[in-house]
Amino acid sequence: MKKIIAYNRVERPVLDDLKQRYDVRFFKGIDPAADSEFLHELQMAEGIIGLELPVDENLLNHAPNLKIISNVSVGYNNLDLEAMKKRNIMATNTPDVLNDTVADTVFGILIATARRIPELDQYVKNGKWEIKAVGNDLFGTDVHHKTLGIIGMGRIGKAIAKRAHFGFDMDILYHSRSRKPDVESTFQAGYRSLDALLQESDFVCLITPLTPETEGLIGKREFKMMKNSAIFINGSRGKTVVETDLIDALRNGDIAAAGLDVYTNEPVEPDNPLLTMKNTVTTPHVGSSTHETELKMSELAAENLEAGLNGRKPPNLVDPSVWTETTT
Ligand code: NAP
Repeated sequence: MKKIIAYNRVERPVLDDLKQRYDVRFFKGIDPAADSEFLHELQMAEGIIGLELPVDENLLNHAPNLKIISNVSVGYNNLDLEAMKKRNIMATNTPDVLNDTVADTVFGILIATARRIPELDQYVKNGKWEIKAVGNDLFGTDVHHKTLGIIGMGRIGKAIAKRAHFGFDMDILYHSRSRKPDVESTFQAGYRSLDALLQESDFVCLITPLTPETEGLIGKREFKMMKNSAIFINGSRGKTVVETDLIDALRNGDIAAAGLDVYTNEPVEPDNPLLTMKNTVTTPHVGSSTHETELKMSELAAENLEAGLNGRKPPNLVDPSVWTETTT
């Protein structure tokens, strides 16, 4: 039986199914760079399936038999693709099956932040609702008919634009590396430079991958460009934002509020100022985390893994050139 490692998150039915055909070892909550049992298993593993395993040269040096790493996520910033390519190790991800779920999460956070829903929830539950008509100190700001700027108009960005345009009559601006004629016609969206988008948007939503180009994309300069009334939403990865600059912007009133699913360090440190600010809404990196979608992601990741282990081209190869090299 081929040995595979499952890491962090693979849904139970998928894990049980894989165990029928493979020698599976599941690891969670370990330090993969230092855990001796994990490093021992890695010596024999031909495949890895899981979420956010940090893969670098050092880890790969412990994995002489590895053929494929199948991420249970669309993002693959945890993988050193160059180091993997040198060793002809395939990388796969799980695009598309999560688009609507992540868009729902991002839009939910956006509404929660604008309408201050978590704060109001605590107000009611903590017995502070004493007079029938609450004061305007608890009012929020409208979402509908406002301008939404989406940075990263990819698969998930489009699903966010769909909700905003058709559901909330919002004007859509977007910024990505290339223009998208389909997006412009379907959602009447306007392409903008990053700076123009920041200046014109009521809501700024960041949903790019984390890459060397997007790391720290939004920092002090960018927050200063946004409207003082702007609400900033980050559904991408924490490191696309300079978090200390975000904290300053929220404190200084450069922007009004932020809704965040991702952070520089995860889990976020308990003393992180973002956790005690009134003008933030925080969720624990759960963009795709519904029962239905996590199962679909695990199933797709298993399909990728099994293809790669058995000489077939995985449907979601991150770098297709690695397949060509392994098969010629
Ligand atoms: P995608 O289809 O590849 O779209 C990414 C978009 O970002 C593309 O439009 C791309 O522009 C744009 N982009 C890339 N680099 C850029 C740059 N330097 N400046 C401006 N725009 C840039 O990816 P996706 O499936 O929508 O996923 C996007 C990201 O969402 C993932 O990589 C992941 O980090 C994040 N995510 C988070 C969660 C969560 O739980 N919070 C869940 C799922 C995904 P071009 O089209 O012009 O190349």
